[in-house]
Amino acid sequence: MAQSSPSSSSLNPPHRFLLGPGPSDVHPRVLAALGMPLLGHLDPTFVAIMDQTQALLRSVFRTENRLTIAVSGTGSAGMEAVVVNLIEPGDKMLVCVNGVFGGRMVDVAGRAGAEVVSIERPYGEVFDPEEVGKAIKEHRPKVVGIVHAETSTGALQPVDEIAKLAHEAGALIAIDTVTSLGGVPVEIDKWEIDAVYSGTQKCLSCPPGLAPVSFGPRALEAIHRRKTKVQSWYLDMTMIERYWGGDRFYHHTAPISMNYALREALQIVIEEGLEERFARHKLNHEALKAGLAAMGIGYATAKGRELPQLNCVTIPAGIDDATVRGRLLNEYGIEIGGGLGSLKGKAWRIGLMGYGSRRSNVALLLAALETILGELGHRFERGAALAAAGIVYRSAKA
Ligand SMILES: *Cc1c(COP(=O)(O)O)cnc(C)c1O
Repeated sequence: MAQSSPSSSSLNPPHRFLLGPGPSDVHPRVLAALGMPLLGHLDPTFVAIMDQTQALLRSVFRTENRLTIAVSGTGSAGMEAVVVNLIEPGDKMLVCVNGVFGGRMVDVAGRAGAEVVSIERPYGEVFDPEEVGKAIKEHRPKVVGIVHAETSTGALQPVDEIAKLAHEAGALIAIDTVTSLGGVPVEIDKWEIDAVYSGTQKCLSCPPGLAPVSFGPRALEAIHRRKTKVQSWYLDMTMIERYWGGDRFYHHTAPISMNYALREALQIVIEEGLEERFARHKLNHEALKAGLAAMGIGYATAKGRELPQLNCVTIPAGIDDATVRGRLLNEYGIEIGGGLGSLKGKAWRIGLMGYGSRRSNVALLLAALETILGELGHRFERGAALAAAGIVYRSAKA
């Protein structure tokens, strides 16, 4: 019996190729780290591991921010941590919404008592700095929130210009890098980002469970000027920073094993090199794109804005979304994502994230799609997809 059944005594999940919007395939070294002996959360050895994790996080975020830590919780806890620490009831927050996660930020900000103003772009498109600048001038928010890599639409949103415009109006800028960190450049200090959060299970190739966050000087000042307590006890940075910082004051028990995993995942990123890692994501994306094009499959994301780690592509006419994804999973063990919101049933979301961004995964997925789509009667030249991907890899070597 290959798969677990209710009668089997030990846990035995099947092996999958996680090529969806996350979680992504975990690096073997990270999986091994999860099985290492537990330490107490105030053990000097664990404290040293926390220090290493902080230093690694600063390198990966490209920041010198002292308050750079991993929040216990998934990416959404990172979102909530940033919002509840910067927002006091009645503060105005401008949120840019061009997908599901911008929409989630609106909800989180509203629950934190913010007076939320949102501006919108259709799914697959990004914001022009000018239109965000206009909204900032008009509404004078305390915080501007925007998603850097919108996983629901596969669109990359440049944020450096928007950060400048926010600062000119005395506002803070907070960005979501859950899907961008470790896959495309994230430059917290160069772009002068005040607050940022991410997640572990996308391009860092770690299981879900921690949310790296970083707060810059302007954000810290805003936190220290607060007149009210942070609404969430669990996510109050003024308390959490005492545990990660100098006096190691007990706040909550750190998820020890997940912190090992993140430490190892970040170490792997630094060993590979950030630029090399971004180039690898780009190359595998180009190869996948060429292969899909050979089958007549294009992108649902605005041209030039496509994320290399999250390929949001249009399902060919006459092909049923659920049939293809079901067959990929059951016949090949491959998970890809379906479309969300206005793209439901119309798009697939193919993740080539972190450890999962590999030539063998591109080849496997293209071969599986060729077989399934061919059998379903979609017309294209058999063999052309893998050949087109091969050309991309060959020309990259030349
Ligand atoms: C996945 C994701 C989140 C939410 O993270 P969880 O770990 O699922 O809580 C937030 N923002 C973006 C852009 C994401 O891709």
